[in-house]
Amino acid sequence: MPIAREDALNWIKACGKVLAENRDYLTQLDAAIGDADHGANMDRGFKAVLNKMPEISDKDIGTIFKTVGMTLISTVGGAGGPLYGTFFLQAGMKTAGKMELTLSDWYTVLDAALSGVVMRGKAELGDKTMVDALTPARDALKAALENHTSLPTALEQSAEAAREGMEGTIPMVARKGRASYLGERSAGHQDPGATSSYLILKAAADTWSACT
Ligand code: ADP
Ligand code: MG
Repeated sequence: MPIAREDALNWIKACGKVLAENRDYLTQLDAAIGDADHGANMDRGFKAVLNKMPEISDKDIGTIFKTVGMTLISTVGGAGGPLYGTFFLQAGMKTAGKMELTLSDWYTVLDAALSGVVMRGKAELGDKTMVDALTPARDALKAALENHTSLPTALEQSAEAAREGMEGTIPMVARKGRASYLGERSAGHQDPGATSSYLILKAAADTWSACT
């Protein structure tokens, strides 16, 4: 079975759970190179999303993702809220009216979501942001599609690429966001936004492991 509406809802719930569990971890990462609010921001945003679940539980995947995006934009301040809001709004545009997603659809979704983040935040690869986790994750999905890899394996490979991208932010000097104010002193710390992006994509791989 492809990724169904219920699976999409379960992914959003899983994001809420994993971001709540990692709230302190994300905050610690942001304390080192930012303002120590990334964990609280993501947790607050997804708690608000979870409160909206009853309204969207019978809707198409596009409406589900669009509602997540609008809720994040309206409840999370700073850089992360608008950027993740854009991520989910773009995901919602690509899935408007859809009741299920194939691997090819999911690639289109992640590609559009990443493009939205890049358009909004203007970060390039190597700037030490969420883009450094999302880009390799998107590229891994493309490679998986070309290799006719199964959906669960493709999602695992995508999450693994995000993890490597996240770890790759450690030596980087930040060139975007608050961390860039630290200049060279931002090196040696893992980027919080790249970390939340990894957690979100890992939640997708875990939630959709039985989809095909
Ligand atoms: P703020 O920096 O406003 O406190 P958060 O702490 O919630 O917001 O989010 C910080 C994260 O946002 C960073 O770790 C980084 O990954 C991401 N980020 C910041 N600026 C940009 C940007 N211009 N493009 C992409 N991601 C960005
Ligand atoms: Mg912050």
